[in-house]
Amino acid sequence: MLRAFFVHLSENRSLRNFAERSAVGRRVSGRFVAGTEIADAVRVTQAVNRAGMSVTIDNLGENVTNPDEARHSAGLYQQILHEIAANQLNANISLKLTHMGLDVDEKLAHALVGELVAKAASLTPAGFVRVDMEGSPYTQRTLDFVRRLHRAPGNEKSIGTVIQAYLKRSESDIETLLSEGIRIRLCKGAYKEPASIAFESKAEVDANYIKLTKVLMKSGIYHGLATHDEAMIRETQAFATRENIARDSFEFQMLYGIRRDLQQRLVRDGWRMRVYVPFGTEWYPYFMRRLGERPANVFFIARNIMRQ
Ligand SMILES: Cc1cc2nc3c(=O)[nH]c(=O)nc-3n(C[C@H](O)[C@H](O)[C@H](O)COP(=O)(O)OP(=O)(O)OC[C@H]3O[C@@H](n4cnc5c(N)ncnc54)[C@H](O)[C@@H]3O)c2cc1C
Repeated sequence: MLRAFFVHLSENRSLRNFAERSAVGRRVSGRFVAGTEIADAVRVTQAVNRAGMSVTIDNLGENVTNPDEARHSAGLYQQILHEIAANQLNANISLKLTHMGLDVDEKLAHALVGELVAKAASLTPAGFVRVDMEGSPYTQRTLDFVRRLHRAPGNEKSIGTVIQAYLKRSESDIETLLSEGIRIRLCKGAYKEPASIAFESKAEVDANYIKLTKVLMKSGIYHGLATHDEAMIRETQAFATRENIARDSFEFQMLYGIRRDLQQRLVRDGWRMRVYVPFGTEWYPYFMRRLGERPANVFFIARNIMRQ
């Protein structure tokens, strides 16, 4: 119920406008968001890299409403790729197709993301573009989009996508993506989906997460396992040990500011860890969703405000 309340708050326009413009808002969001500028993302990435973890940088924002906004968002990602190369960051980028104009002009979105993938592929070492997965109206479109770009010559190592374990279709989607050699990030899924297409109970989602993890780990392709759930991580580690799967043949992924203790422990124990570092002026909905996932975060944030 509290989660629904935060989802509701995350959609509130006036609260969002107020929060995104206020100094307090920006300070409070710092727990989960690098800042509003590219320089903030670079600074945080350098710190995370120094702690032995790689990064994926996300410019926060979803559905753009016109072609200029889409071009602007893609331009920011071009700059980020430039900064990754110039500063030798151990990082790639994560983006959402609706942020690149999927709903405005699909051809334009293709061209913009295609240019980003080409730029990533031209870097040394080669960069990588992760296409995040949005709500179920976008599942098939996202998979088709990624598969098409992945087929273009020179792109095969530089684009991948995300599969959500709560969707019943995911096992079959994984089979298709694997047959084409596409790298996958597996997560549980963050959107509200109907019971007709998604598992509803945590037990079912977790069971599917583990099942799909095993398929990915046996595939011989480098994938990302995105979760903060210690039970999922323990099962993955046990499976890797049992099946003699090398620790550098996949990576764990977590969000910036969440379970830092666990992130550091995994690195100390010799597992690969990538941190998802979001930045940008449109941080409010992302921040509210993180609070909703774990209401204890509200108390954590409140305590920090009192201390300032
Ligand atoms: C790197 C990364 C990329 C992602 N990309 C996508 C994507 O493209 N599409 C998509 O739909 N979803 C994405 N997600 C979100 C994901 O689907 C889940 O909503 C989110 O990760 C919470 O699920 P969980 O696996 O951590 O497990 P849960 O079952 O939600 O939580 C397990 C445990 O993790 C800890 N935890 C979880 N969330 C928090 C939090 N906010 N604060 C503190 N502790 C927490 C708690 O200890 C909790 O008990 C991504 C997640 C990560 C880590």
